[in-house]
Amino acid sequence: MPALERELTALLDPRRVLHTPDALLAWECDGFTVHRGRPRAVVLPDSTVEVQSVLRLLHREQVPFVPRGAGTCLSGGPTAERDAVVVDCSRMREVLEISTADLYAVVQPGVVNLDLSAATHGHGLHYAPDPSSQSVCTIGGNLAENSGGPHCFKYGMTTDHVLGAVVVLPDGSIARLGDAAGPRPPHSLDLAGVFCGSEGTFGIATEITVRLCRNPEAIRTILASFGSMAAACRTVSRIVATGLVPAALEILDAATIKAVEASVYRAGYPEDAAAVLLVELDGPADVLAEEAVEVAAIARENGALRLEEATDPAERKRLWKGRKGAFGAMGRLNTDLYVLDGVVPRTRLEDALDGIGQIAARHGVVLTNVFHAGDGNLHPNISFDGRDPEQTARVTAAGREILELCVALGGSITGEHGVGREKIDYVPMMFRPDDLAVMARVRAVFDPDGRCNPGKVLPQRGACAEPAKWPQMVARVLDIEAGEDRA
Ligand SMILES: Cc1cc2nc3c(=O)[nH]c(=O)nc-3n(C[C@H](O)[C@H](O)[C@H](O)COP(=O)(O)OP(=O)(O)OC[C@H]3O[C@@H](n4cnc5c(N)ncnc54)[C@H](O)[C@@H]3O)c2cc1C
Repeated sequence: MPALERELTALLDPRRVLHTPDALLAWECDGFTVHRGRPRAVVLPDSTVEVQSVLRLLHREQVPFVPRGAGTCLSGGPTAERDAVVVDCSRMREVLEISTADLYAVVQPGVVNLDLSAATHGHGLHYAPDPSSQSVCTIGGNLAENSGGPHCFKYGMTTDHVLGAVVVLPDGSIARLGDAAGPRPPHSLDLAGVFCGSEGTFGIATEITVRLCRNPEAIRTILASFGSMAAACRTVSRIVATGLVPAALEILDAATIKAVEASVYRAGYPEDAAAVLLVELDGPADVLAEEAVEVAAIARENGALRLEEATDPAERKRLWKGRKGAFGAMGRLNTDLYVLDGVVPRTRLEDALDGIGQIAARHGVVLTNVFHAGDGNLHPNISFDGRDPEQTARVTAAGREILELCVALGGSITGEHGVGREKIDYVPMMFRPDDLAVMARVRAVFDPDGRCNPGKVLPQRGACAEPAKWPQMVARVLDIEAGEDRA
């Protein structure tokens, strides 16, 4: 056994240090299967102290590392580059504290998103950010990705719900960011806010303090089906324009409906519809009664074919089952799924979907759409066989064009899935060299050696440079980019 692996084994129980090729297979990629990278080793710490001892050793040996939660990321974020060691936080899954009076919880990073809401449900509370992967993904991964979800249209993204975090920095030191142990909002520099969305490049969060929300008094869930995608999109714009703030506004296209209905996630969606729109309203019961009437009227005015409303919690669960299981249902179409994540202004949804359809046809790829319509956050999904390099090349070329289209329409290359490895070459579509230079400087404050999740988020000139050359490299990137910008 190599010396580093021997030392790691001395720090943790040997069963929590994996280093044989077979054992490492499961950590080769995340939900973005186009890109793979086998780590040098995987460690599974149980506590902040264990994470600290591992990072101190890796710092001494100048070995790169990658934090990991459940591996549901769709942009290659927790995939190892440069023979890195994966620090898998999935065993750190204790809810450490729930304050029902001050409405916060302190959790370890491996706590599964839905488990937190289950733990607080009895107190009439829940954790609002709800990625569709919420039955699997972890709060640590949510923090690193600034994750969203269907209900983020009303309640905001993860960053709106994180109060603080205990973080082990790449040199093994520990920092408390924000208010890591209580309900106060940031009173100085909002470093928890800076950490949120850093995609595992600033250190490893080992305790996270999040806001809890009171469960709403009532919920109304309505499914509207349409004969055209354009009518569904117009309905969304109308609902928002009237001043209504539904908790969720989600659209599935015809191909997605068919895949869902043929799968175990079958939800009774009308298979003859070109699109279905799932609208959820929450709040005081009497207010919702009026809002539900208003939503139904807007849907009808915009050509809804049918309207269905859940009459009890089981019906609501059924209507959501199809939406939450949509990505899983795509497993019926092919072996791999490339889930794209672009944003356009809500009013450009129709244009974007038309353009996306044309791109898919030009590249001959099978594409379905399921998306957070309220936020203009699109998820075009391309089903393909990842064992076929020619097919994979067409899929990635189509993906790039789709994200270029989103930017051209005034949107962005990511709404919630992060840049990771997937979109690292696309970042300059959105940010000027000066913007990237600031980001590189901030990153270098947390990770001066460039060992924390290298090769992610920020494009680097000479990306395969030695870790020790990171500070010079940052300086070079800044010089080169600034020079180019001036040219
Ligand atoms: C079916 C499906 C549906 C999805 N739906 C949504 C959705 O609705 N909204 C949405 O936003 N996302 C969605 N996602 C994407 C994904 O679930 C989220 O990005 C999620 O937050 C990742 O959590 P994870 O625990 O799997 O993290 P991982 O995938 O393991 O890691 C994600 C990133 O976080 C870093 N990281 C992990 N733990 C830590 C830590 N403790 N400290 C520092 N960095 C860390 C990793 O290095 C990596 O860069 C979906 C994914 C799937 C497969």
